[in-house]
Amino acid sequence: MKNAMMCMALALTVTTGLSAGQAFAAETGKVQTIIRNGEQAAIKGAAQFFTGNVRIDPLYPANNDMRSSGGSVTFEPGARSNWHIHPVGQVLIITSGEGRTQEWGKPVQEVRPGDVVICPVGVKHWHGAAPNSSMSHISICEEKEPGKVVEWMEKVTDEQYNGK
Ligand code: MN
Repeated sequence: MKNAMMCMALALTVTTGLSAGQAFAAETGKVQTIIRNGEQAAIKGAAQFFTGNVRIDPLYPANNDMRSSGGSVTFEPGARSNWHIHPVGQVLIITSGEGRTQEWGKPVQEVRPGDVVICPVGVKHWHGAAPNSSMSHISICEEKEPGKVVEWMEKVTDEQYNGK
């Protein structure tokens, strides 16, 4: 099958002047999408799901072919998410500042730029900034059903945030 496609691509290249890559793209009907920086409006983290000021910059949505979506989330000092779980897990890539995350029943962990946090399916946790530093991370989640990437729970108390 691959050989047949390669032959068709080469044949197209010869007869139409299209590159092999263009010929493949024409066959699948798929093209790359480039979402330019600044094209998507930022979203303020809702007070019912976050403590403090949080800005969500969407990066890319899920679609019919790809189940993951990504966003960059920026927490001001002291800001954090509510406790929550992800029905298909989550990957966090810390991109700037200093932050904190915690699994239910375990100690608070500090996270720094370049750290990658993998939150398994159904593990209750929170993430946010350190008390005296903002923190940004890229969040990548897969959708269990369209639009469903998180189940929100209660607020993280100051005592929990401070590890007491
Ligand atoms: Mn999470």
